[in-house]
Amino acid sequence: MYGAKQEGRNRYHLFDPQRDRAVRAHRLAQDRIAVALAAEEFVLHYQPKVNMRQGSVIGVEALIRWQHPQRGLLPPLDFLPLIEDTDLIVAVGEWVIDAALRQWQLWQEQGLDLTVSVNIAARHLSRENFVARLAELLRAHPAVPPHRLELEVLETAALEDIGRVAAIIEECRTLGVSFALDDFGTGYSSLTYIKRLPAETLKIDQSFVRNMLRDPEDCAIVEGVIGLARVFHRAVVAEGVETIEHGALLLRLGCDIAQGYGIARPMPAAALIDWVRNWRPDPAWVANAGPTGSGDDRPLAIATAGQRR
Ligand code: C2E
Ligand code: MG
Ligand code: MG
Repeated sequence: MYGAKQEGRNRYHLFDPQRDRAVRAHRLAQDRIAVALAAEEFVLHYQPKVNMRQGSVIGVEALIRWQHPQRGLLPPLDFLPLIEDTDLIVAVGEWVIDAALRQWQLWQEQGLDLTVSVNIAARHLSRENFVARLAELLRAHPAVPPHRLELEVLETAALEDIGRVAAIIEECRTLGVSFALDDFGTGYSSLTYIKRLPAETLKIDQSFVRNMLRDPEDCAIVEGVIGLARVFHRAVVAEGVETIEHGALLLRLGCDIAQGYGIARPMPAAALIDWVRNWRPDPAWVANAGPTGSGDDRPLAIATAGQRR
């Protein structure tokens, strides 16, 4: 009856008990996620992004997890898809931005100065007040320079409404916030699209990177994205770098910045400082880096608080 009324009354709607159970379960799960947000059950883990050629840590990607009291630590794909089409994704997204900015400040106080990247869902990005809310969140953390924040948006989401997304990216740039097109290569970006999307960075999708050592076509895609980034003056980041060999080949192809299990898995914020302090690039990467590369001139990502500018 509710379905019939919702569709405009004066009609019938067949009751399907199985579908009804599924809809109820879905709604319950969504309600539970809202409770989790209020109860602060979400946490961010951070995965480093490094410059393999210079041997420096340049940033981290914030990745949400749910510390579920009964089910343990849940990955984002176990719960984000349930709220992707609801406004709850906006509330969760704002929590993520706020938590990442707060964490940036804590790291900064300990002498760590990195860029933090946050994933933004399509529905959140296309909210009318997205830029205004982002500006408010930045104002709430005046110690964080906006250029230390990068937003990652899926290439496929950016293509859905390219005019609007391009305008939002442009407005965010005036705030100082930069953009990366995530999972790049999985959409249908034409050259014209790339020209119209003012995102500074392309993140090569991990499926191509993972298979590039044994699949010449995936390797060609990786090479193609690196070439695109070069001609369009964009930065390029490879995700899914699982082994030293992946990194070595990427360096040979001209992609210096990488992220992946072969470098570090996402980790709790508290573990990052020690990780940054101890990380060294693999000697094979330095050997591959050519005459300009040297492991010795790595910029110091960590300074003591007193040494900071
Ligand atoms: P993503 O933004 O493409 O993030 C990379 C995902 O790949 C992360 O999974 C990361 O743990 C995983 N990964 C990194 N390196 C490797 C590797 O070498 N091998 C393999 N097999 N995997 C690797 P995670 O944390 O499960 O996140 C999955 C996706 O969920 C993310 O993909 C992103 O689209 C979404 N997501 C995560 N956090 C958030 C968030 O705070 N907000 C929104 N809207 N989406 C998020
Ligand atoms: Mg991402
Ligand atoms: Mg990705």
